[in-house]
Amino acid sequence: MEPIRKVGVVGAGQMGSGIAHVVALSGYDVAINDLSKDRYDAAIDLIAKNLERQVFKGKISEDEKNAALGRISFAETFEGFSDADLVVEAATEDETVKRKIFVSLCPFLKPDAILATNTSSISITRLAATTDRPERFIGMHFMNPVPIMELVEMIRGIATDDVTFSRAKELVGSLGKTMAVSEDFPAFMVNRILLPMINEAVYTLYEGVGSVDAIDTAMRLGANHPMGPLQLADFIGLDTCLSIMQVLYEGLADSKYRPCPLLVKYVEAGWLGRKTQRGFYDYRSDEPMPTR
Ligand code: NAD
Repeated sequence: MEPIRKVGVVGAGQMGSGIAHVVALSGYDVAINDLSKDRYDAAIDLIAKNLERQVFKGKISEDEKNAALGRISFAETFEGFSDADLVVEAATEDETVKRKIFVSLCPFLKPDAILATNTSSISITRLAATTDRPERFIGMHFMNPVPIMELVEMIRGIATDDVTFSRAKELVGSLGKTMAVSEDFPAFMVNRILLPMINEAVYTLYEGVGSVDAIDTAMRLGANHPMGPLQLADFIGLDTCLSIMQVLYEGLADSKYRPCPLLVKYVEAGWLGRKTQRGFYDYRSDEPMPTR
């Protein structure tokens, strides 16, 4: 089997740009596809800024930064992935969007290319079934922010073969990350545990038990969490949080996972957290201000 040399990334959002960053820094060529060149340009600006921060902290050299940036290119269409050995899908957390991507992407891929998804919650087996390669399909769930977080949750679908699993495992190791293996159940392990806590924090706010500031302070200082649950929700993206709760609610058919109506309201308002400058906090001035 040929070693992995080139990695494709679909989606240049928070996760796609983070994955491209660490993969390029580890010496792989990377092609990124998104709906427009503007999104790719924004991702490159972010990657350059984050690499610069690593140079400033003495973690990488200026040459390593420039070499990593030089390895990243734009794939305007999926044709740009025709020589990729592995493609990671990191587009919006919406099953219909992901299905459409796989259907149009697969005809361009090399027969032995691995297709991975960074989904936070959707069934790997079900997504794999929409492709021409369920045995070479795998869940590689990177954590946000990818350059900093050490874990990659690995999820095999029912058909994922051993070669695919070991090649993906090798890639994770070469990125300096540690993996944890999860069975293919709704939201896997990290989000099965984390998101109900965030959703409960939103209920705590909704029921008036505490303000945004009080809830986050309580969990930071009372449970020793590095950031409060509402701050974390803004960081993840409230649309992504809501999608994960819906997957848990529908996938496990248990009312304990029902998404908080206040979370739904924020998403309907387009207040999606940091990425839209407003969520449980307003980020439009220097100091984030609670919105409730
Ligand atoms: P995001 O909203 O920042 O980025 C999504 C990107 O996908 C956008 O740039 C969008 O333009 C692009 N996109 C949408 N449809 C597309 C299409 N048809 N073709 C190409 N690109 C398309 O979202 P994100 O936070 O980066 O999340 C991406 C994926 O990673 C989701 O599956 C999410 O569940 C998962 N994830 C997110 C986090 C997190 O903390 N945000 C953590 C782990 C995994």
